[in-house]
Amino acid sequence: MIPMDFSYWRTETAEEAVAVYQQLADDGQHPVYYAGGTEVVTRARLGALTPGAVIDVKAIPEARRLGRDGGCWHVGAALSLADLIHDGAWPLLARVAERVADHTTRSHITLGGNLAGTIAYREAALPFWLADADVATVGPHGRRTARFRDRFDGTLALDPGELVVSLSVPDGVRQQPSYAQKATRLDYVDYPLVTIAALRGAEGQVHVALSGLKPEPFRSAALDAALIGSGSSADRAGRAARHLPATLVEDLHGTADYRRFVAQTVLADALTALEGP
Ligand SMILES: Cc1cc2nc3c(=O)[nH]c(=O)nc-3n(C[C@H](O)[C@H](O)[C@H](O)COP(=O)(O)OP(=O)(O)OC[C@H]3O[C@@H](n4cnc5c(N)ncnc54)[C@H](O)[C@@H]3O)c2cc1C
Repeated sequence: MIPMDFSYWRTETAEEAVAVYQQLADDGQHPVYYAGGTEVVTRARLGALTPGAVIDVKAIPEARRLGRDGGCWHVGAALSLADLIHDGAWPLLARVAERVADHTTRSHITLGGNLAGTIAYREAALPFWLADADVATVGPHGRRTARFRDRFDGTLALDPGELVVSLSVPDGVRQQPSYAQKATRLDYVDYPLVTIAALRGAEGQVHVALSGLKPEPFRSAALDAALIGSGSSADRAGRAARHLPATLVEDLHGTADYRRFVAQTVLADALTALEGP
């Protein structure tokens, strides 16, 4: 329940949603897009968000798209993580998504909400960050398709009122060997100490993206480069760990040093899984 009065707008196209957003923003209504609603409701109940209007984007057909076309797999931003797990067309995405929140919440959290929301970790971004994925948006300046990695650096760079419509991934990427692991402190369902997604590229090199170390997901070309070369998985993971961020999240789940240790362990696990010991 959102404990305040607000107006509710259900939109049928992305352009309509953006136009309604702009009109409401101009009227001082502080609108927000409403997808799964898990974050909007949680933050509104805490008093951290006071929208005068919510714009429901779940009925926009292109934001519910799911399937192949033109050599790519397309996935709508308004689909829930549970939809993506059930579909299973991209095993890496399904494995990462199935560890986000609990079963009930995953049925509500949408891909677009996970990528564009303000709550930490954004684990569903990891596979797209590793792949040659594109992100399609509609904003005040019209439609735009861009490389996901050109618009995502831990947070998705969106203009005010810009709506994420869909993402697409080349068919070949979904067949590449991949690995995912979420390390939590105690409970299977929890925020991550470290989540890793790893993809072995056509040239054989392993690329990784990590969540849990900072509020935003992390990846680094220097870390990827340190994973190449001679030595055991553990040796290379140790070298790569030197390229982790200097400051890591420190909370009830784990200290920064513990997170660094866990990150090094999951890096070694990923290399072993994708290359052998
Ligand atoms: C109980 C709980 C557990 C969680 N556990 C995890 C976890 O384990 N791992 C993790 O990574 N995250 C976790 N989250 C965070 C969650 O993934 C985000 O809060 C996400 O925003 C929720 O998606 P939603 O569809 O419900 O978003 P909503 O609440 O509908 O929207 C959230 C924000 O995103 C914006 N938005 C939504 N869709 C779009 C779009 N298509 N384009 C542009 N902006 C959009 C909205 O305007 C709003 O500002 C958890 C959240 C909750 C509430």
